[in-house]
Amino acid sequence: MLDLTTIPVVDNHCHPVLLNQQIDALQFRGYCTEATDPTFAEKHISNTVYYLWLLRQMATFYGCERDEASVLSARNTLSNDTLLEHLFRAANIDTLVLDPAYPPTAACYSPERMGQLGRCRAVKMLRLETLMQELILQHSDFDDVIDRFSTKISHARENGYCALKSIVAYRTGLNIAEWSKDEAASAFVEARAGAAERGQLRIAHKPLIDFLLHIAFQHAAHQQLALQFHTGYGDSDTDMRLGNPLQLREVLERKDYQSMPVVLLHESYPYSQLGAYLAAIYPHVYLDLSYTIPFVDKLEMLAFTRQALSVAPASKLMFSTDSIHIPEMHWAGALRGRAVIAQVLDEMIAADEIDEEQAYHLAQQILHDTAYAVYRL
Ligand SMILES: [Zn+2]
Repeated sequence: MLDLTTIPVVDNHCHPVLLNQQIDALQFRGYCTEATDPTFAEKHISNTVYYLWLLRQMATFYGCERDEASVLSARNTLSNDTLLEHLFRAANIDTLVLDPAYPPTAACYSPERMGQLGRCRAVKMLRLETLMQELILQHSDFDDVIDRFSTKISHARENGYCALKSIVAYRTGLNIAEWSKDEAASAFVEARAGAAERGQLRIAHKPLIDFLLHIAFQHAAHQQLALQFHTGYGDSDTDMRLGNPLQLREVLERKDYQSMPVVLLHESYPYSQLGAYLAAIYPHVYLDLSYTIPFVDKLEMLAFTRQALSVAPASKLMFSTDSIHIPEMHWAGALRGRAVIAQVLDEMIAADEIDEEQAYHLAQQILHDTAYAVYRL
């Protein structure tokens, strides 16, 4: 059996944890699903394989019984800082690449503090749609929005962001099109009017989002700054038909964007083979392999890891957890990712595809080296 525990991981996509770690059973179950309907936490989550596995891992870590009540009371007796410290250090993390746009900043540990407690580096990315929303609310003139958006993105790297992120798959889909400035400006007027009516803005205006995204792509390409796209699995807010990474074709084909590394998040699940295919064909496309979210069991993780490693070079694959809310997720994802990657590589050794030395080299790339190159860590 390959042992990958000594390789410090770069978690290339994850979120901050909450400042208040005192959680009850319903909250805990709610954190273990992408379903937003409350009946899932009440009735179904305790019947999912992923959840049962996580409880067992936590019981071993805290040295308590495996039932939900014992596990939660064991973790809730620890102070918030101690919880983070113990779990992050046990996970052997080199770098956390954080998307601080969610959960809300005021409720969360800062990237700096997470890094201190975990004795790891913590770097951050800039979420484009959040910036768009802020600017659209603040400015009544579309040219002002364009100017400020361009300025912020063109200085992203020097201001400490190691990547950009887009959740356009959650809004209008990955089939990002080219629109005229007039079309974008009318959508901007509509978005502002809607916001004035409802008192809040949720941009889902396709010409507006697509137009601003193309501006971001130009600045990202200029700085050779990576762009992470949410692809595939998400809550029901995402139209999964438009979350297929093949929808990105027009963006991927643009010659002037080739210097912008494109990262397909969440193994594009369940389009994992298609995501691996894109990483195998386009020089600037990378596939993220996430081992906490989507919440699937080990057999499914083995399946997408096999698909990815069978199709794409390991120098195009990157480990992550997409963890959020509680530090157990970052820890469990690191353990799980190493174990799943090791098992797949063992199968490949047994099949006489590679030898052990080559297997370690491929693992090192997925867990650490590819992300160092893509984000210039
Ligand atoms: Zn995420």
